[in-house]
Amino acid sequence: MSAYWSDLVHRLTPYVPGEQPKMANLVKLNTNENPYGPSPKALAAIAAETNDTLRLYPDPNSDLFKQAVARFFSVTPASVFVGNGSDEVLAHVFLGLLKHDKPLLFPDITYSFYPVYCGLYEIDYATVPLDAQFGIRIDDYLAQDAGAIILANPNAPTSRLLPLADIERLAAGKPDCVIVIDEAYIDFGGESAVPLTQRHPNLLVIQTLSKSRSLAGLRAGFAIGHPALIEALERVKNSFNSYPLDRMTIAGAAAAMDDVAWFDATRQRVIASRDTLTASLQALGFEVLPSAANFIFARHPARDGLELAQALRARGIIVRHFKLPRIDQFLRITIGTDEQCAILSTTLAEILG
Ligand SMILES: *Cc1c(COP(=O)(O)O)cnc(C)c1O
Repeated sequence: MSAYWSDLVHRLTPYVPGEQPKMANLVKLNTNENPYGPSPKALAAIAAETNDTLRLYPDPNSDLFKQAVARFFSVTPASVFVGNGSDEVLAHVFLGLLKHDKPLLFPDITYSFYPVYCGLYEIDYATVPLDAQFGIRIDDYLAQDAGAIILANPNAPTSRLLPLADIERLAAGKPDCVIVIDEAYIDFGGESAVPLTQRHPNLLVIQTLSKSRSLAGLRAGFAIGHPALIEALERVKNSFNSYPLDRMTIAGAAAAMDDVAWFDATRQRVIASRDTLTASLQALGFEVLPSAANFIFARHPARDGLELAQALRARGIIVRHFKLPRIDQFLRITIGTDEQCAILSTTLAEILG
């Protein structure tokens, strides 16, 4: 606390990301990173940008990246906004599209950055409880007066998927509300809502290259929606930072979007490992929520969640545990390589005795 701070800073409760420990030889299954490397073509594109041109500012519109996203989804570049990680895209979305007189709605259990943005931008919000199986009930949102709605699909940290038909029903039922779908994990088992943005001008879809394209260290994300929604985001971005994406990121992100073969091969490996790991944990007595993401959310009926997380940590395996109501008995476990998944299963079997 300091008298030099603005009033707003005194009131902030910042987001706490999963730890990035400096120790070697850890099995790191706590921040949903991809165990397989980025596309070799993306790495080559990044390396090719590391030269004398770095003395020049990058393209403020990141057109190369925008065009690659537009190509991948068969939409126009005017329907695409890009940012420095989807967290930055989200920040601009909260300020530019989700701040209204009526409250913003999101689930009681979801990405814990959402309430943090609400604090930063002083956005009025209300949470809507997930059902007993941790599912989102669209009717609860349709029934409530809202200024806007944001949902993660698949949801985090529950890993559960909402069918596309439900998203369409929500977008059609609330035509005066912006509906944002955060698809950070959609490539691991769901169908993207991007095609729906073509007929619902109130629908905005956000994705990241951090998970399914294995580029968490590069910082690239994007949003797709009606050009009027995109223009709001460009206005916020150009009032904040003209050059959020550097030259390496623009080139690497564009090449990663274009390398569809690498993207498909690596995400299929993660999906296969997830199914194997789910079966192994179920055999150990865990309840595992049905996952459409690159992580699973699991609890053991006889063992405390925090104790299990600490026991794993003592054995060099890091998973994520949230000390929050309703989910404090769960572990969120990132899908690693098959070898890492096997080490996890064996270690859990030892801990459970
Ligand atoms: C990981 C994640 C993001 C942020 O991704 P970045 O692009 O790395 O900033 C956004 N939303 C959800 C739900 C996530 O899990």
